[in-house]
Amino acid sequence: MDGRALAQRIRATVAEEVRTLGGIGLATVLVGDDPASDIYIRLKQKAASEAGIRAEDVRLARDTSEEDLLAKVEELNADDAYDGFLVQLPLPDHLDEERVVRAIEPAKDVDGLHPLNTGELFLGRPRLVGATPIGIIALLHEYRIELDGANAVVIGRSDIVGKPVSHLLLQANCTVTTCHSHTRDLASHTLEADILVAAAGRAALVTPDMVKARSVVIDVGMNRTDAGVVGDVDPGAVEVAAYMTPVPGGVGPMTIACLLQNTVRCARYRRGELAYPHA
Ligand code: NAD
Repeated sequence: MDGRALAQRIRATVAEEVRTLGGIGLATVLVGDDPASDIYIRLKQKAASEAGIRAEDVRLARDTSEEDLLAKVEELNADDAYDGFLVQLPLPDHLDEERVVRAIEPAKDVDGLHPLNTGELFLGRPRLVGATPIGIIALLHEYRIELDGANAVVIGRSDIVGKPVSHLLLQANCTVTTCHSHTRDLASHTLEADILVAAAGRAALVTPDMVKARSVVIDVGMNRTDAGVVGDVDPGAVEVAAYMTPVPGGVGPMTIACLLQNTVRCARYRRGELAYPHA
């Protein structure tokens, strides 16, 4: 499954929408200098600029106080120049992520992490949902994968990938099993999966003998190893599955493209073209 190709098309559509909207703005906030976070921020900034989105790269020192970070969030909430923004996670240990995420204006929450947005998703009324889960569903639609009644197994239950993608699959009428680090006999679950989403962050956790024949495998993992960045699924599983996403070139590019899509959505909320539920 070619995430790069679909992401390219989405980004072209976003660029068109940005022109029609007469310009939109996205801010990213990075606290500290975590190298992986720095790479993600650069990719997001570059993609936003290429789509014609006004992109602000806010960098705060690692020892920034919670009050100062919350003040920055309040400033971005109120700033009309930015339709949406995100605070890159994880934050340094002395900062309370939950408190910071809660402070974000829900209609500007491009990462879909505010409790109002996660709550709406839980209730089957997705508004702003994180870019990675949205990108996974877009890939499944692109390849016309039958979701209705399919057995979907998600490995991982994080707030950013595992839980939201499980909810989106449930809403698409899959029978969903969410596995995690306490799951007993992972293979007994994965072997039943018509659709397997691996988001554990463990290199080669899923071996070819754990994959159901002719199934669809979405590999979200991005694990840094001596051999470079690898997924959670052994690449040999491509021989067993009907479809599989590569790493890199699968979910990664979709995440970036769908972040831009979410920024357009925020712009439509702010312009009243879409109604945000709490408004
Ligand atoms: P996380 O560490 O927050 O969550 C990992 C989850 O996997 C946990 O729920 C844990 O219970 C589960 N898990 C861990 N080991 C397991 C095991 N042996 N068996 C079953 N479950 C196990 O990670 P995350 O933020 O959800 O990210 C997961 C992976 O996806 C990481 O490799 C991350 O880099 C990658 N990621 C990629 C993208 C992308 O755009 N491609 C976006 C976000 C995350």
